[in-house]
Amino acid sequence: MKNLYNGAISFRKKDFETHKALFGDLSNAQKPHTLFIGCSDSRLVPSLITSTIPGELFIIRNIANIIPPYKKGNNFPATSAAIEYAVLSLEVENIIVCGHSNCGGCASLYKTEEQMKDLAHTNLWLELARPVKNRVMQMLPKATFAEREWMTEQMNVLEQINHLFTYPYILERFNNDKLSIIGWYYVIETGDIYNYDVDKGYFELING
Ligand SMILES: [Zn+2]
Repeated sequence: MKNLYNGAISFRKKDFETHKALFGDLSNAQKPHTLFIGCSDSRLVPSLITSTIPGELFIIRNIANIIPPYKKGNNFPATSAAIEYAVLSLEVENIIVCGHSNCGGCASLYKTEEQMKDLAHTNLWLELARPVKNRVMQMLPKATFAEREWMTEQMNVLEQINHLFTYPYILERFNNDKLSIIGWYYVIETGDIYNYDVDKGYFELING
């Protein structure tokens, strides 16, 4: 734990000093251009992989970068509330949904009820990605583990983007060219980032 305290001291002395003027400018308002929706995985660092500085990304992170379909009256709609705030209040211009390699959330889709019995909330949350597993099993019934893994992770990005379009205000802004919707897939061990090309129908390497 001590390294966290030392980290806070180091931040104040180094990075904060470097960005002191920027933090001053940001003290009363934010105007991020992008809502980044990514997995909670510790190996995915949105500002690092996009080379962005404080104030640029509004970030939502949860298990398996899931977006609940639009529904009024959810009791605790954390992700939907953050989307609403980013789009309607901050008026972001882009939304990136970013999946990643070796995603534990996506892998859990293939676990049994028994294996997930101590992770009841996780299991419930993953219901929102369950159709992806079924689709992958249908499309690639004889796939290797690795093939099934990346296929699930990439198809989950598309599934969650489809969920985004159930939000009326997102659909409206997208149709009026006020909002871009971007699907990314990040590979931890190589730094590769693949962007989903809607016309081509597949993820294409953008930083190789
Ligand atoms: Zn993940």
